[in-house]
Amino acid sequence: MNITLPPMPYALDALEPHVSRRVLAAHHGRHHAAYVAKTRTLIRRTPLESASLEEIVRSSVGRDTALVNASAQAWNHEFYWRSMNPGGGGEARGAIAQLIEESFGSQRAFSQQFVTVAGDQFGSGWAWLVLQDGRLHITATSDAHTPLITTQMPLLTIDLWEHAYYLDYQHRRLDYIAAFLGRLIDWDFVNQHLARRSVRSTNVGSAGN
Ligand code: ZN
Repeated sequence: MNITLPPMPYALDALEPHVSRRVLAAHHGRHHAAYVAKTRTLIRRTPLESASLEEIVRSSVGRDTALVNASAQAWNHEFYWRSMNPGGGGEARGAIAQLIEESFGSQRAFSQQFVTVAGDQFGSGWAWLVLQDGRLHITATSDAHTPLITTQMPLLTIDLWEHAYYLDYQHRRLDYIAAFLGRLIDWDFVNQHLARRSVRSTNVGSAGN
């Protein structure tokens, strides 16, 4: 079985004061761990037992609600950890910076739209920066839903479940979103992901990119 709880890419106190050690410890060690454990239970002695997490998410859509919820949450959380880095945030750099200018007009416009979409998401869910048809978009998904099962290519995500921020920010979700944008986004991860995806999508890329 390939599905295990991945270690955090940084220390549990590395994102303080923006995300506390207390929140990160429970979020990774209990919430993320529970989604991984549930996924393992549901794929045991099935044809998906040796599949990758991406394959499990994609192949369970429309067939097994419990499995798609658990496996998508496992995938979303791993993607979320890697979307952040101590000392991150602020102005985007490299290829993603140019794409942000082309898609949103400016980094400021990108940030404003990200705050609006993430702030307006009703209830539990995620906000995403995705690539589709050569352009960037900001979207939100409810509960466990993930762009992984769409034609959009996820590049960045913020967890909007209350377990991600309530102990640190209470009802002030906008302060958490501001910290994510200003202090936490790992633009190097976004650029690495963008480069990989570009290779895979060159045959469907538009003339404009
Ligand atoms: Zn979460």
